Amino acid sequence: MDKQSTIIENSLKAIMDDKEFLPDLKAQTREQAYESLVSILTTPNHIHKSFLRVTMEDGTVERIPAFRVQHNDVLGPYKGGIRFHPSVTEDEVSDFSKLMTLKNALHEVPFGGGKGGLEINPRDYTVKELNLICKKYVQYFDDIIGPDKDIPAPDMGSGEREMDWMMAEYKTIHTGETYRNSFTGKSILNGGSHGRREATGKGVYFSFRYLMYNYARENEKWLAQNENVFADTAVKYAKKKMTMAIQGFGNLGSVAALEAYKCTYLQNKIVAVSDHNVMLYNEEGLDVPSLVEFANEHDGELPTEDDQLQEYDIKANIHDRDELLELDVDVLLLAALENQLHKDNMENIKAEIIIEGANKPIAEEADKYLSDKGVLIIPDILANAGGVIVSYFEWMQGRETQFMSEERVYERLFDKMKHTMDTILPQFFGDPFPLRQNCYIHAVTKLSTIMFKQGKLY
Ligand code: GLU
Repeated sequence: MDKQSTIIENSLKAIMDDKEFLPDLKAQTREQAYESLVSILTTPNHIHKSFLRVTMEDGTVERIPAFRVQHNDVLGPYKGGIRFHPSVTEDEVSDFSKLMTLKNALHEVPFGGGKGGLEINPRDYTVKELNLICKKYVQYFDDIIGPDKDIPAPDMGSGEREMDWMMAEYKTIHTGETYRNSFTGKSILNGGSHGRREATGKGVYFSFRYLMYNYARENEKWLAQNENVFADTAVKYAKKKMTMAIQGFGNLGSVAALEAYKCTYLQNKIVAVSDHNVMLYNEEGLDVPSLVEFANEHDGELPTEDDQLQEYDIKANIHDRDELLELDVDVLLLAALENQLHKDNMENIKAEIIIEGANKPIAEEADKYLSDKGVLIIPDILANAGGVIVSYFEWMQGRETQFMSEERVYERLFDKMKHTMDTILPQFFGDPFPLRQNCYIHAVTKLSTIMFKQGKLY
């Protein structure tokens, strides 16, 4: 069984043992309800897959595996990004769709969970070919997506440009129907929301900042009374200068890095960042704005040569990208791919706080090992919901054809994340369970109660 399904099962066991949970459910029905809930929450409703046949510019025809998995729609239309990456598989997309259901439930976003994928490396195609691939994706899945059915968004390897293209194709196919909300994460000119592009990175840093500053610092006395190793870690670091390493410098990592660099509540020193080529290191702290400027001017990539560092006056040394994870730092922010910490490197991880910016960056064994060691992990389900939260704002704004300012979007984003954290953190710091388990219990309780009320558990 995969890691998420295990946590879902454990959460369901815990809530079913609690007599206060759905007291109307009699013992026998309770047992059956448990079985149904395990099945409903650990498996998707629908798996759609296809092979797109796309004619390349040189006239050859490529066969591209494409997926859309619809996990659960109890809370509303299916919702989740489309990943463009060579590692995409049906199982992976299916797993991510499950996480979307739980993420939306945790943050009270009125959507279900879905996820899409294209098994390609977007860097291998011309703009014209990518445009064709996006159109084909919509043509193949046009009957299962839609503004009130299933609303895709960007994910790794896709962005505003791809969402604009896909929405345009949806509009062509569904002439006369509403089309703007068929996709979120669009450019502002095409009905996108201010702040959507920055939302995940800003949200990731906010989750860390809120936990460390507003919570650990302000509740220090209360936390000191609990026997909770995670609370001790949070309190210890909240007051001191923290060194930080960030894996991934794309849309997520670079925005989060800038937030950390500018933050005046906490004392962060970003000593290392990496991308798919290199790691840059400076023990005195990196000049993040210069790095962001460089990446913006170089197709999102970090400098790989010493003369590029000199030209931009960036004080850093270039290292092998894989050295980053095992650095002796206080905080590790994972903003790249899944399964980065695993059984082969878990014992070498020195950070005592890990933030999961990416989805599922810590494999099951490593998650258990690090949590048992007392490492404070701020999990993906909590930390990286900024993207889907602002997607929800985009969808609402599209319906009302009224748009919020960038400041208002961030204000509402942080309010929403704050609300979730105010619900979860008192429990987390009261119980010595990893934060991920608390988040899952909360999400699973919500989904189970709704299904019970909808009569789905008899
Ligand atoms: N792909 C993002 C995620 O994993 C955002 C999904 C969305 O905006 O629907 O949360």
